[in-house]
Amino acid sequence: MTTVWTVDAENPDPRDLETPARLLAGGQLVAFPTETVYGLGANALSDEAIDRLYQAKGRPRANPLIVHVGDLQCAKKLSAAWPDSAERLAQAFWPGPLTLVLPHGGKIPGGVTAGGDTVALRVPGHPVARALLRAAGVPVAAPSANPSGRISPTLPEHVLGGLDGKIAGLVSAGPCERGVESTVIDLSGPQPVLLRPGPLTPEEIAQVLGIETDQLLLSAALGADGPEKSPGRMGRHYAPRAQVVCVATAAEAEDWCRRWAGQGQRYAWLALEPGPGTILLPASPAGALNALYKNLHKIDSDIIEYVVAQLPPAEGRWLAFRDRLLRASLKQ
Ligand code: AMP
Ligand code: MG
Repeated sequence: MTTVWTVDAENPDPRDLETPARLLAGGQLVAFPTETVYGLGANALSDEAIDRLYQAKGRPRANPLIVHVGDLQCAKKLSAAWPDSAERLAQAFWPGPLTLVLPHGGKIPGGVTAGGDTVALRVPGHPVARALLRAAGVPVAAPSANPSGRISPTLPEHVLGGLDGKIAGLVSAGPCERGVESTVIDLSGPQPVLLRPGPLTPEEIAQVLGIETDQLLLSAALGADGPEKSPGRMGRHYAPRAQVVCVATAAEAEDWCRRWAGQGQRYAWLALEPGPGTILLPASPAGALNALYKNLHKIDSDIIEYVVAQLPPAEGRWLAFRDRLLRASLKQ
């Protein structure tokens, strides 16, 4: 049985969070809203809780977890080094949708870090996440609250759709503002590396670091140079059940739709410009990102088998949107 606590998104009553916080600190799995997507929380200092987390999600053990903390001081305590770059980014973007990868110096169990020397840290900005972390009093590992490989949940219904009965509880507080996973920056090496594009663009990150955008090394960002050049280790992720095809032009999208219509298939066209029969996403990068998962969830629940999506230009502000679409289109 999964217990659901419904709380106010802006001003959660601390009394409503006492039980979920206690369960979380005690090693149970509790999903909660963040400004990016719903996270599945586990006490990051408990091996047992981390085992439960990997099991509930069916997540490969080699994929490390992001540790969520209430404030910058907690983040500093969990890292073995705090370079000037970390201070600048944390001051500029925390609490917020930014994850920093830093050396942990043995302060974090190997289950969280997949046995590596670094830990990914984030101070989320959602009032419910902040209040829950405060009440739990422990660092909380929280990947997206969905079975591994599926679309991240941006609504409480999505969490229950994938994990009902497999987790102790869900703190429910409506939709997530950003609707896509955090930007991840690795600061453990000589140069900052963008490990995962997200709501904060490479331009915004580079500006705060006082470097040129092209000095921010891009790693694993599929949207940067297209899927064919991406390293083979990057797998399908953030994916709906439907098969997704990414195209460059509206004419190509129309061709696919005609083909599927001719085969009697159920299909959808995700578009950034109005057109016949399209699912129209907002035209701005932040708006389109926010709407993407919502629409992919809808496509799954409508049992649509094929999706064509026209990619926006390969610019920094579109990087995260391109990355998620391209990942969704990979076969495995
Ligand atoms: P999610 O699966 O949405 O929780 O995303 C976690 C992301 O953070 C993945 O892209 C991980 O590879 C990345 N991550 C977590 N911990 C680390 C770490 N120690 N080093 C590098 N990347 C990490
Ligand atoms: Mg995930």
